[in-house]
Amino acid sequence: MTLPTEAGVERALDSLVRDVPDFPRPGVVFKDISPLLADPHGLSVTVDALSEQVRDVTAGGALDAVLGIEARGFILAAPVALALRTGFVPVRKQGKLPGPSHAVSYELEYGQATLELHRGAVTAGQRVVLLDDVLATGGTVEATLDLLHRTGVEVAGVVVLLELSFLGGRERLGGVPLRSVRTI
Ligand code: AMP
Repeated sequence: MTLPTEAGVERALDSLVRDVPDFPRPGVVFKDISPLLADPHGLSVTVDALSEQVRDVTAGGALDAVLGIEARGFILAAPVALALRTGFVPVRKQGKLPGPSHAVSYELEYGQATLELHRGAVTAGQRVVLLDDVLATGGTVEATLDLLHRTGVEVAGVVVLLELSFLGGRERLGGVPLRSVRTI
Protein backbone atom coordinates (compact mmCIF):
# COMPACT_ATOMS: atom_id res chain seq x y z
CA MET A 1 0.00 0.00 0.00
CA THR A 2 1.20 3.53 -0.79
CA LEU A 3 -0.16 6.47 1.14
CA PRO A 4 -1.52 9.53 -0.67
CA THR A 5 0.79 12.49 -0.01
CA GLU A 6 -1.83 14.51 1.87
CA ALA A 7 -2.34 11.83 4.54
CA GLY A 8 -1.26 12.78 8.07
CA VAL A 9 0.83 10.83 10.52
CA GLU A 10 -2.23 9.35 12.32
CA ARG A 11 -3.46 7.83 9.09
CA ALA A 12 0.04 6.62 8.26
CA LEU A 13 0.39 4.90 11.63
CA ASP A 14 -3.10 3.41 11.48
CA SER A 15 -2.65 1.99 8.02
CA LEU A 16 1.07 1.15 7.88
CA VAL A 17 1.97 -0.22 11.32
CA ARG A 18 1.25 -3.92 11.19
CA ASP A 19 0.05 -5.87 14.24
CA VAL A 20 1.76 -9.24 14.41
CA PRO A 21 0.08 -11.45 17.03
CA ASP A 22 2.20 -13.80 19.14
CA PHE A 23 5.58 -12.34 18.11
CA PRO A 24 8.24 -12.72 19.43
CA ARG A 25 6.36 -14.89 21.92
CA PRO A 26 2.76 -15.96 22.60
CA GLY A 27 0.52 -13.20 23.95
CA VAL A 28 2.54 -10.26 22.56
CA VAL A 29 1.08 -8.19 19.72
CA PHE A 30 4.18 -6.88 17.97
CA LYS A 31 3.93 -3.43 16.33
CA ASP A 32 5.84 -3.85 13.07
CA ILE A 33 6.88 -0.46 11.67
CA SER A 34 8.56 -1.93 8.56
CA PRO A 35 5.65 -1.06 6.19
CA LEU A 36 5.65 2.50 7.55
CA LEU A 37 9.40 2.86 6.93
CA ALA A 38 9.05 1.44 3.42
CA ASP A 39 6.42 4.00 2.42
CA PRO A 40 8.05 7.26 1.20
CA HIS A 41 5.26 9.49 2.51
CA GLY A 42 4.81 7.40 5.68
CA LEU A 43 8.50 7.72 6.51
CA SER A 44 8.51 11.42 5.86
CA VAL A 45 5.45 12.26 8.01
CA THR A 46 6.80 10.00 10.77
CA VAL A 47 10.16 11.80 10.88
CA ASP A 48 8.36 15.16 10.77
CA ALA A 49 6.04 14.18 13.67
CA LEU A 50 8.91 12.84 15.79
CA SER A 51 10.98 15.97 15.09
CA GLU A 52 8.03 18.10 16.20
CA GLN A 53 7.78 16.14 19.47
CA VAL A 54 11.52 16.55 20.07
CA ARG A 55 11.23 20.30 19.44
CA ASP A 56 8.24 20.42 21.82
CA VAL A 57 9.93 18.55 24.66
CA THR A 58 13.04 20.76 24.42
CA ALA A 59 10.77 23.84 24.37
CA GLY A 60 12.93 25.26 21.59
CA GLY A 61 16.00 25.25 23.89
CA ALA A 62 19.42 23.69 23.41
CA LEU A 63 19.68 20.21 21.92
CA ASP A 64 23.11 18.63 21.60
CA ALA A 65 22.10 15.15 20.42
CA VAL A 66 19.25 12.74 19.81
CA LEU A 67 20.02 9.31 21.25
CA GLY A 68 18.56 6.21 19.62
CA ILE A 69 18.24 2.76 21.17
CA GLU A 70 19.39 -0.17 19.02
CA ALA A 71 18.00 -1.14 16.62
CA ARG A 72 14.71 0.48 15.55
CA GLY A 73 15.51 3.57 17.60
CA PHE A 74 18.53 4.13 15.29
CA ILE A 75 16.35 4.16 12.19
CA LEU A 76 14.18 6.95 13.59
CA ALA A 77 16.63 8.94 15.71
CA ALA A 78 19.21 9.53 12.95
CA PRO A 79 16.87 11.29 10.48
CA VAL A 80 15.31 13.28 13.34
CA ALA A 81 18.79 14.45 14.41
CA LEU A 82 19.52 15.41 10.80
CA ALA A 83 16.22 17.31 10.48
CA LEU A 84 16.98 19.24 13.67
CA ARG A 85 20.61 19.85 12.65
CA THR A 86 21.95 18.15 15.75
CA GLY A 87 24.00 15.01 16.44
CA PHE A 88 22.99 11.35 16.73
CA VAL A 89 24.34 9.09 19.50
CA PRO A 90 23.71 5.32 19.56
CA VAL A 91 22.81 3.33 22.67
CA ARG A 92 23.93 -0.16 21.69
CA LYS A 93 23.45 -3.74 22.73
CA GLN A 94 26.30 -5.37 24.62
CA GLY A 95 29.63 -5.89 22.87
CA LYS A 96 29.08 -3.68 19.80
CA LEU A 97 30.85 -0.45 20.81
CA PRO A 98 34.60 -0.44 20.19
CA GLY A 99 35.61 2.10 22.86
CA PRO A 100 35.34 2.21 26.66
CA SER A 101 31.64 2.31 27.54
CA HIS A 102 29.12 2.77 30.31
CA ALA A 103 26.90 -0.32 30.67
CA VAL A 104 23.57 -1.07 32.28
CA SER A 105 21.92 -4.46 32.72
CA TYR A 106 18.20 -4.83 33.26
CA GLU A 107 15.54 -7.49 33.52
CA LEU A 108 13.45 -8.51 30.55
CA GLU A 109 10.40 -10.70 30.93
CA TYR A 110 12.65 -13.65 30.18
CA GLY A 111 16.28 -13.12 31.15
CA GLN A 112 18.48 -10.03 31.06
CA ALA A 113 19.74 -7.47 28.58
CA THR A 114 22.66 -5.03 28.64
CA LEU A 115 22.86 -1.65 26.89
CA GLU A 116 26.04 0.38 26.39
CA LEU A 117 27.00 3.98 25.66
CA HIS A 118 30.49 5.21 24.74
CA ARG A 119 32.17 7.11 27.55
CA GLY A 120 32.36 10.75 26.53
CA ALA A 121 29.62 10.42 23.87
CA VAL A 122 27.50 12.72 26.01
CA THR A 123 28.78 14.87 28.86
CA ALA A 124 27.61 17.06 31.74
CA GLY A 125 26.49 20.44 30.43
CA GLN A 126 24.90 18.95 27.31
CA ARG A 127 21.17 18.51 26.74
CA VAL A 128 19.78 15.50 24.87
CA VAL A 129 16.57 13.67 23.97
CA LEU A 130 16.16 9.88 23.98
CA LEU A 131 14.12 8.38 21.14
CA ASP A 132 12.69 4.90 20.48
CA ASP A 133 9.98 3.35 18.34
CA VAL A 134 7.75 1.74 21.00
CA LEU A 135 7.38 2.34 24.74
CA ALA A 136 6.04 -0.92 26.13
CA THR A 137 6.82 -1.83 29.77
CA GLY A 138 9.35 1.02 29.91
CA GLY A 139 12.18 -1.22 31.14
CA THR A 140 14.47 -0.38 28.21
CA VAL A 141 13.98 3.38 28.52
CA GLU A 142 14.29 3.23 32.32
CA ALA A 143 17.63 1.41 32.01
CA THR A 144 18.89 3.86 29.38
CA LEU A 145 17.94 6.81 31.59
CA ASP A 146 19.92 5.19 34.41
CA LEU A 147 22.91 5.04 32.05
CA LEU A 148 22.48 8.68 31.03
CA HIS A 149 22.08 9.96 34.58
CA ARG A 150 25.56 8.55 35.34
CA THR A 151 27.07 10.81 32.67
CA GLY A 152 25.62 14.01 34.13
CA VAL A 153 23.97 14.94 30.83
CA GLU A 154 20.57 16.69 30.98
CA VAL A 155 17.81 14.56 29.47
CA ALA A 156 15.18 17.02 28.23
CA GLY A 157 12.76 14.20 27.44
CA VAL A 158 11.91 10.87 25.91
CA VAL A 159 10.12 10.70 22.55
CA VAL A 160 8.48 7.57 21.16
CA LEU A 161 6.45 6.85 18.06
CA LEU A 162 3.99 4.50 19.80
CA GLU A 163 3.17 4.30 23.50
CA LEU A 164 1.42 1.12 24.65
CA SER A 165 -0.23 2.90 27.58
CA PHE A 166 -1.88 -0.25 28.99
CA LEU A 167 1.62 -1.47 29.96
CA GLY A 168 2.26 1.59 32.15
CA GLY A 169 5.77 2.33 30.84
CA ARG A 170 5.52 6.07 31.44
CA GLU A 171 5.43 5.46 35.22
CA ARG A 172 9.03 4.22 35.03
CA LEU A 173 10.66 7.34 33.61
CA GLY A 174 11.33 9.01 36.97
CA GLY A 175 9.71 12.29 36.02
CA VAL A 176 11.52 12.73 32.69
CA PRO A 177 8.91 14.17 30.27
CA LEU A 178 7.51 11.76 27.68
CA ARG A 179 6.05 12.65 24.28
CA SER A 180 4.33 10.02 22.12
CA VAL A 181 3.25 10.54 18.53
CA ARG A 182 0.51 7.92 19.06
CA THR A 183 -0.86 6.44 22.31
CA ILE A 184 -2.62 3.10 22.19
P1 AMP B 1 9.99 -2.20 26.88
O1 AMP B 1 9.05 -3.25 27.35
O2 AMP B 1 9.39 -0.81 26.92
O3 AMP B 1 11.32 -2.25 27.58
O4 AMP B 1 10.26 -2.52 25.33
C1 AMP B 1 11.45 -3.09 24.95
C2 AMP B 1 11.79 -2.81 23.52
O5 AMP B 1 11.10 -3.77 22.76
C3 AMP B 1 11.43 -1.43 23.01
O6 AMP B 1 12.62 -0.80 22.56
C4 AMP B 1 10.48 -1.67 21.86
O7 AMP B 1 11.06 -1.22 20.66
C5 AMP B 1 10.32 -3.17 21.78
N1 AMP B 1 8.93 -3.60 21.98
C6 AMP B 1 8.34 -3.97 23.14
N2 AMP B 1 7.08 -4.33 22.93
C7 AMP B 1 6.84 -4.16 21.61
C8 AMP B 1 5.70 -4.36 20.77
N3 AMP B 1 4.53 -4.80 21.25
N4 AMP B 1 5.84 -4.09 19.46
C9 AMP B 1 7.01 -3.64 18.96
N5 AMP B 1 8.11 -3.45 19.69
C10 AMP B 1 8.04 -3.70 21.01
